Amino acid sequence: MPVVRLACTVNNYHWGKHGLASKAAQFAATNPGVAIDASQTYAELWMGTHPSGPSTVYGTETKLADLINQDPARLLSPAVERKFGAQLPFLFKVLSIEKALSIQAHPDKQLATQLHAKYPSIYRDPNHKPEMSIALTDFIALSGFRPLEQISGFLDEYPEFRALVAMTAGAFQQAVAENGDKRAALRALFAELMDADAHVQVERLLARTKESADPLDTSAEALAHRLNKEYPGDIGIFCVFVLNVLRLRPGEAFYMGPNDPHAYVFGDCVECMATSDNVVRAGLTPKLRDVPVLTSMLTYEYGSPEGKLLAPTRVGSHSVVYDPPIDEFAVVCTTLRASEEEQLASVQGPQILLVTQGCGVLVADGEHALEPGFVYFISPGTPVALRAASALIAYTALCRA
Ligand SMILES: [Zn+2]
Repeated sequence: MPVVRLACTVNNYHWGKHGLASKAAQFAATNPGVAIDASQTYAELWMGTHPSGPSTVYGTETKLADLINQDPARLLSPAVERKFGAQLPFLFKVLSIEKALSIQAHPDKQLATQLHAKYPSIYRDPNHKPEMSIALTDFIALSGFRPLEQISGFLDEYPEFRALVAMTAGAFQQAVAENGDKRAALRALFAELMDADAHVQVERLLARTKESADPLDTSAEALAHRLNKEYPGDIGIFCVFVLNVLRLRPGEAFYMGPNDPHAYVFGDCVECMATSDNVVRAGLTPKLRDVPVLTSMLTYEYGSPEGKLLAPTRVGSHSVVYDPPIDEFAVVCTTLRASEEEQLASVQGPQILLVTQGCGVLVADGEHALEPGFVYFISPGTPVALRAASALIAYTALCRA
């Protein structure tokens, strides 16, 4: 079986979009027996072998994880199995975000191993979790620290922000102006901020500034108003003054390496990550906040939002690859007009293909239908062609060890 269609699970986290407004729900609705409820939120479609949301072979109860376990050398390739063990090294997702996700970072391998040993019920595995997101719609996220001159400017411009970091603001501005130890100063400022109680200053900030009519307004003020509606009084609202705001258009991507602070704010995306569940959260969440671990793990790198974007490179006539600096995954996007065809490059490793738009056929051992939401597992070395009947977009996550 070189190509297998998968049925994938969708979850109902509180921040998801409602009903069929959610792409995760639209895609999940192609699975047998799934009825979408307009009053319910649909957040994440999971494509892969993770035990918290395992994909199954379409029309059966067989898990993809069990198939792979029976013959990892053939379904992953001997090299991928040697390097990552007998499971898929990546987890592929569709996220549909109505309400911001928590401000978080993911530990590197060394820290993940320590955290897992100490708190196995919170940090569930010893693996790192680099992530990459590719926007399917207009998309807003916070990622990485802003250029320090910007943060310094906000301290002058917003007394409410300055009041929350009263002990460290002066030393921070001095380090920025005089080229002192900028990372240490940023770290002290961020630690003071994340430990503060924001309620009073949030009210002052919102009373003094205006809400934006544009839902895609990425100014710090507009985002503060938006985040306060979602998480009233949360300290994470003030992160808009220290973290970069990214606004992505469909097809634009960004990468989050280890110990890199980020939060998704709005939109639909495909996301690929190393198989892990380790998240350290510090704001915009009803879940456990681990501020000491978060503030001590970050690298305190800073810079412009453009530096966070991951530009794709062309492969084949109608495809591009998003290839972050890690071994677990890359993602190919194939865009075809009606009646165009693309022979995908042969990959010596496992692949998962998702159609996000349009119809056609996948030609491999036989012909397999392509429609929005259809997901296929492709075995290593399988020659695959995509033929479009209507304008088609497919994303293929892969690992080549
Ligand atoms: Zn994350």
